[in-house]
Amino acid sequence: MMQRMSQSEIIGGLVALLGEARVSTSAPDVIAMSADLWPKAQIWKMSGEVERHPPDCVVWPGTEAELSAVVAFCAEHGIPIVPYGGGSGVCGGTVPIHGGVVVDVKRMEGEVEIDRASLTVVAPAGINGQHLEDRLNANGLTLGHFPSSIMCSTLGGWLAARSAGQFSSCYGKIEDMVLSLRAVLPTGEIVDTEDRQSGDPDWTQVLVGSEGTLGLITSARLRVHPSAKHRWLRGFRFHHLHDGLEGMRQTMQAGLRPMVFRLYDPLDTFIAMNTGKSTDRGGLIDLLRSNSSSKEQGSGPATRLFQGLARAGMSGGLAVPAALNRFAQALPSNCKMVVGFEGPEEAVRIQSERAATILRREGGEDMGAGPGEHWLEHRYSVSFKQSRIYQAGAFVDTMEVSTTWDRLEALYEEVKKAVGPHAFIMAHFSHAYREGCSIYFTFAASRGAGDRAEAHYERIWQSALSAVHRAGASASHHHGVGLLKRDAMVEEHGNMLRVWRVLKDTLDPKGIMNPGKLFPDGAGGA
Ligand SMILES: Cc1cc2nc3c(=O)[nH]c(=O)nc-3n(C[C@H](O)[C@H](O)[C@H](O)COP(=O)(O)OP(=O)(O)OC[C@H]3O[C@@H](n4cnc5c(N)ncnc54)[C@H](O)[C@@H]3O)c2cc1C
Repeated sequence: MMQRMSQSEIIGGLVALLGEARVSTSAPDVIAMSADLWPKAQIWKMSGEVERHPPDCVVWPGTEAELSAVVAFCAEHGIPIVPYGGGSGVCGGTVPIHGGVVVDVKRMEGEVEIDRASLTVVAPAGINGQHLEDRLNANGLTLGHFPSSIMCSTLGGWLAARSAGQFSSCYGKIEDMVLSLRAVLPTGEIVDTEDRQSGDPDWTQVLVGSEGTLGLITSARLRVHPSAKHRWLRGFRFHHLHDGLEGMRQTMQAGLRPMVFRLYDPLDTFIAMNTGKSTDRGGLIDLLRSNSSSKEQGSGPATRLFQGLARAGMSGGLAVPAALNRFAQALPSNCKMVVGFEGPEEAVRIQSERAATILRREGGEDMGAGPGEHWLEHRYSVSFKQSRIYQAGAFVDTMEVSTTWDRLEALYEEVKKAVGPHAFIMAHFSHAYREGCSIYFTFAASRGAGDRAEAHYERIWQSALSAVHRAGASASHHHGVGLLKRDAMVEEHGNMLRVWRVLKDTLDPKGIMNPGKLFPDGAGGA
């Protein structure tokens, strides 16, 4: 095995390529780049380990040629590279578990080139998501990609981790939007997947979702759309989850394409009704912190849930998740749905009328435009406020899984049953398709003392992922795999891992690109 260079030799080589100002070993840079927003990394930090896996250094190449030189240097000396976009990933994809060089691509912001006639845009991978959308909006266009993290994530990160936005049922996921991309391969070679004829294999999709393990994406050509002039938004209330899901399935299978389609389970609905926010917008945090906002009066299960939580405090309440989940089971079975369409006036009118007919037929009660408009207005008020939960001695995480309609309810029940003894759990259904749908679970648990937090975190995830596979579902819909789900991928990909091994060994013979991510080291080998 090749002897790794010393840290000072690595830095010397990189400074020669980029200059001193764009190579850093300063503590703030190294700490900031030693993890993304993976909750487990947050647990490390809360336990006093601010940088469990520090990189040797952080670099900011300014051009594709500079990036290529950095990668070639690292390949020659067997130095691991970890690509870094916005660092908003939640699966540990940017944690430098083997040290090496973190390559932050955000300095590589280049020109945004819009082709109005073809309705495409070419944009640099390091561009901030909201900045890209702003540029398109100024030209009367939209990408139609609105992840909740749009203000702190990049185009390259979206492509690398197969991101989905809030309007995915209408515009698709990022892999449906990308037409071609440019990348620096692990040898330093630059490739452009646009250089192909229509009948050739599509190399774009080899790099999409590869989470930096096969190369560094530097720019991409994407489909864009004229900005929508008309919108219709509604809330519907269903008395049972099953009826709401039937409404969603039938709407999608009728060929309708809602821009937003979300169904909250009874607990998530209850939290939204009592805090004004759903779990993805901090409602869980409000619920766990106080009962002062509760509109529930009397002695029903809802009041008892709030009062019990208020008495026990956040961490105390979460220390008995099974009891909390039992209380939640006794809540009313109502489920709130948010649905909306956008586009040309005539198309919006026809689609919304048809959808409303289907949803009413399945038992939905029209709540008017209010819930939909409220959702749209607050859709980015996501819980970056998670730190309040950590400070109170607890942690929270989310799991986005997907399956076909025939297995969806079984998946929901299986995961709740598996996680229920360990964490307070709820869910909403979003990213609906003709064939199936994604479920977004939120779970919160008490951290406990010392090492127990990490062990508890792992127990929850193992229970959850085993349940997902028992239900025949996929463990990742749009957050990527990173370190968190890489072992689960071995089961999901089975024999096809051999293809991955050939691909990885061919493109990255030194194994330097984001090692240990997506699949465990050596996966698919003999
Ligand atoms: C509050 C919050 C809300 C979120 N909501 C959503 C949501 O609605 N939808 C959604 O899809 N995700 C969501 N996420 C997750 C996260 O934003 C996505 O995974 C996003 O795609 C990550 O982009 P990033 O630029 O931050 O990538 P990073 O976190 O920097 O990196 C993600 C992975 O991609 C690799 N990578 C980054 N840039 C490149 C590149 N140029 N070339 C090759 N590999 C690269 C990294 O090595 C890493 O493996 C959310 C996260 C948070 C914290």
